[in-house]
Amino acid sequence: MKNKNSRIGFDQWLGVVGGGQLGRMFCQSAQAMGFKVLVLEPDVHAPACQLADDVINQPYDNADALDAMAQRCVAVTTEFENVSAQSFERLARHTRVAPAANALDTVQDRATEKAYIRSLGIPVAPYAVIESLDDLSKAAPELLADGILKLSRMGYDGKGQHRIQDLAQARQAFSEMGERPCVLESRLPLDHEISIVLARGLDSQIAVFDAARNVHHDGILAVTHVDGQQNEQTHQARDWACQIAQQMNYHGVLCVEFFVLQDGSMVVNEIAPRPHNSGHFTQNACVTSQFEQQARVMAGLPLGDPRLLAAAVMLNLLGEVWVGESGDQNQEPDWSKILALPGVALHLYGKTEARVGRKMGHINITAPDFKEAVRIANVVVETLSLPEKAVFV
Ligand code: ATP
Ligand code: MG
Repeated sequence: MKNKNSRIGFDQWLGVVGGGQLGRMFCQSAQAMGFKVLVLEPDVHAPACQLADDVINQPYDNADALDAMAQRCVAVTTEFENVSAQSFERLARHTRVAPAANALDTVQDRATEKAYIRSLGIPVAPYAVIESLDDLSKAAPELLADGILKLSRMGYDGKGQHRIQDLAQARQAFSEMGERPCVLESRLPLDHEISIVLARGLDSQIAVFDAARNVHHDGILAVTHVDGQQNEQTHQARDWACQIAQQMNYHGVLCVEFFVLQDGSMVVNEIAPRPHNSGHFTQNACVTSQFEQQARVMAGLPLGDPRLLAAAVMLNLLGEVWVGESGDQNQEPDWSKILALPGVALHLYGKTEARVGRKMGHINITAPDFKEAVRIANVVVETLSLPEKAVFV
């Protein structure tokens, strides 16, 4: 076992389980600091594999692969929450892991996640755990009258979720999802959604980024805006996110998503134990990005300054943007038009096949003034025919 308290130097290996875009952007930040990155990912063409210094092309739970990774890396992280907690326990026998297996275990199941948040005295949407058709029949009438049935495990980007309005619909949705464990959540009257991304270091220091306001389209994040303004809700969100990180003794980058309801009250939607799509603005708008924080935590280095240097709008680029006027897929958009605009930064993930709903990249727009960032963002929206206006009224 390596000395867990040692401050490591550069030119050392950091490991990431998963080869998606979050792993790719982690590679970029860690490598910029001089680290080498080892990725565990079965798909050789995955976004992070194109940039990693080395790749182990094996399943995420392959014992030999995990042991080899633990031997080589001073610390290992994950870029998706569904990596098995057992894999992280195995890694932790020989190396530092951030986050810890028990944090992954708690948040990767919606039922344990919600129970945990509630146990801290932090509100979540009213819900019931559904493990059988019988549980559905016993669910509170309010949940059945207007609810969302969500798979407890493995959901992302709104997948594995069904809106239901009576018991019959709930039963049908439950069967369609293979009668796997679910939570039935009350569908809440949202005013808007915000998220807090923070990093907590091995020394328990916390660095919190500015609150992000998020708009989803078809269950997928479409737009994030960060105006640097604080209000009652952003203060509350920040406090709750810090409380969650502290209580879990969490090490790494964490995102907490919140629903702000029409009466101004707020509940936690969910926790992501990793950098988050709504934190991509940090790449161009903050002194330190969420991915650099992840590398710093892993290496036992001090956290970077999370300060916001500019107002920002982030626009997600889904596969739809690659569909040409004639309807053919994989038509590369004309980036030169948007790159000519001030404050525009393009981030593409190296995915060669565009599919509807697939996250292909994002655009960060920064400006000294939020109104100006929104103005430019709306030009980008028009130019690329994105589904969402970047403006919030
Ligand atoms: P992601 O991967 O984007 O985090 P996910 O699959 O984990 O998505 P959720 O975060 O649970 O799914 O839900 C996606 C979106 O659906 C939310 O951001 C929100 O817009 C809407 N939504 C989810 N639950 C509720 C609810 N109880 N009431 C109202 N809207 C909801
Ligand atoms: Mg979510």
